[in-house]
Amino acid sequence: MTPEAALLRVIHCLDRSRASGFKTKAFVRALDVVRTTDPAELEARSLAKSLTDLDGIGDSTGRVIAESLAGHVPQYLIDLESTTQVTVSERAQPYRDALRGDCHLHSTWSDGGAPIEQMALTAMSLGHEYMVQTDHSARLTIAHGLDEHRLSEQLDQIADVNATLREAGHDFRVLAGMEVDILIDGSLDLSDEMLARLDVVVASVHSKLRMEKQQMTERMLQAIASPHVDILGHCTGRMIGKRPPSDFDADYVFAACTQFGTAVEINCRPERLDPPRELLRLAVDHGCMFTIDTDAHATGQLEWQGLGCDRAAECDVPIDRILNTRSADQLLEWVA
Ligand SMILES: [Zn+2]
Ligand SMILES: [Zn+2]
Repeated sequence: MTPEAALLRVIHCLDRSRASGFKTKAFVRALDVVRTTDPAELEARSLAKSLTDLDGIGDSTGRVIAESLAGHVPQYLIDLESTTQVTVSERAQPYRDALRGDCHLHSTWSDGGAPIEQMALTAMSLGHEYMVQTDHSARLTIAHGLDEHRLSEQLDQIADVNATLREAGHDFRVLAGMEVDILIDGSLDLSDEMLARLDVVVASVHSKLRMEKQQMTERMLQAIASPHVDILGHCTGRMIGKRPPSDFDADYVFAACTQFGTAVEINCRPERLDPPRELLRLAVDHGCMFTIDTDAHATGQLEWQGLGCDRAAECDVPIDRILNTRSADQLLEWVA
């Protein structure tokens, strides 16, 4: 195991365990140092026990690097592998087993921590057949959202990643998507022309979450009715313990989702778990279609699907109404 591989795996484990960002950052920083330092210097410093003299290498990160250079799996990583496992509950297991992809995740193109290819390799290792790359749209400047020019560049890179994966003999596809902001007036933060180039579009509210109920309902309905929108992302915008769900007429919203063929996302992030139980049950009653998505911002977070599966099981979401239990082709057919 190279120091780079060891550090990447440590970061993966820390992210899946929801470790403090502070801890993870130390390893991300160390990874950067390893990537930009001559391997011969790393070897020499490791032998001379002077790795920590490098700016950005501390005791823990230095040990991980030294142990991997010495040909061992670092003890810190061995411990993390066992203590950070994400368990899937018994009732969630049939849902997790049925899932074949993930339709909402971020990369370093917006506010994610890993490049597209790394997210793809991790998704593959979790048994997925595809993932939809959904970085933020331009309006979300805080998350480094993509304008049309950058999105266009990203689409080229997705094609490259797919070609590389195919050449390596992998049967895995990165589908082109975006998490497009639903603007205040219900319009979308992307032109029709660019929307039409995407395979799958997730639309989410990220601003003015405290809007008055009637206005918020109309805003969401307009986005749901757009022929480009395939999935309604984290519909209430709540952050458990931090931010209450936004207020909208859920009957109208879910009826519209059914009518216009927009799936309701079951967002797996532990601080979101959106929609809340009561709304999720209501969406089931309305006959909605669903996706169970991680909204991962790091490779380790791709393992969070079990949380959404548990919520789906608890609320009796029929498995055959979950779109990402279908193959990529079937999914594309549904959203077409
Ligand atoms: Zn979002
Ligand atoms: Zn997202």
